[in-house]
Amino acid sequence: KPEAAGAEPTSYAFQRVKHVILVASGKGGVGKSTTAVNLATALVAEGAKTGLLDADIYGPSIPMMLGLAKSQAASGDGKTMQPQQAAGLSVQSIGFLVSPDKATVWRGPMASQALLQLIHETNWPELDYLIVDMPPGTGDIQLTLSQKLAVTGAVIVTTPQDVALSDAQKAIVMFNQVQIPVLGLVENMSYHQCSACGHQEAIFGRDGGVELAARYQLPVLAQLPLQTRLRECSDLGKPLFLSEDPADDALCLLYQQMAQ
Ligand code: ADP
Repeated sequence: KPEAAGAEPTSYAFQRVKHVILVASGKGGVGKSTTAVNLATALVAEGAKTGLLDADIYGPSIPMMLGLAKSQAASGDGKTMQPQQAAGLSVQSIGFLVSPDKATVWRGPMASQALLQLIHETNWPELDYLIVDMPPGTGDIQLTLSQKLAVTGAVIVTTPQDVALSDAQKAIVMFNQVQIPVLGLVENMSYHQCSACGHQEAIFGRDGGVELAARYQLPVLAQLPLQTRLRECSDLGKPLFLSEDPADDALCLLYQQMAQ
């Protein structure tokens, strides 16, 4: 893991994390958290020891997506916090500590400090990957986290819609500035397939993410459909990878290809 310039002193537990992968988006509501959860569980399915950190102070939705909505941060030794366990993942969330309405009024420096503390004071086990669900946007918090954490790379999530793409472009430019490799782009909600007749419709436009990726010579890691099952799994708190319904295999495969 590369040392970030001006990095915070690294905690003992954080040193056990081999690769930190940031999942980021310019715009909110594009499916960043959904991608983070499914990418993390796909890595578990690949046999990787994986953790998931919910750093989205504006809407920490990971606890709900993993059925941990009622969980609170558990202290191990009074100094560090034990991550929660769900779907084979070690999970930590700003949502386990503070109510979202409190966190959203934090100023940039306070929010970034709280997030760095959360990362360094969690008793992470040995992990191959720590997936970080970043807050949306390219402001102070995102910049500070990117600069102060030793990060392997970032994954950008966008929909094919113009408003989302222009914000995704800002995120790519930000990561280029702080010299974090962008590993690829995920185009979410690329199309909707009618469950009755199979007709596909590109509700948010066609191939916008693919074109943006081409402009920056980035790989497209997946083009994911807008599909009820993805929303259902999030709301039920049961990730897609725990589903025993063979109808979900095709979607799982898309995330597995992303993980590989
Ligand atoms: P973000 O983290 O970018 O704010 P979320 O992952 O929370 O976005 O997704 C926003 C909403 O859209 C959630 O209700 C989620 O269940 C739903 N969603 C995300 N991606 C899809 C998809 N491909 N198909 C159906 N629903 C989706």
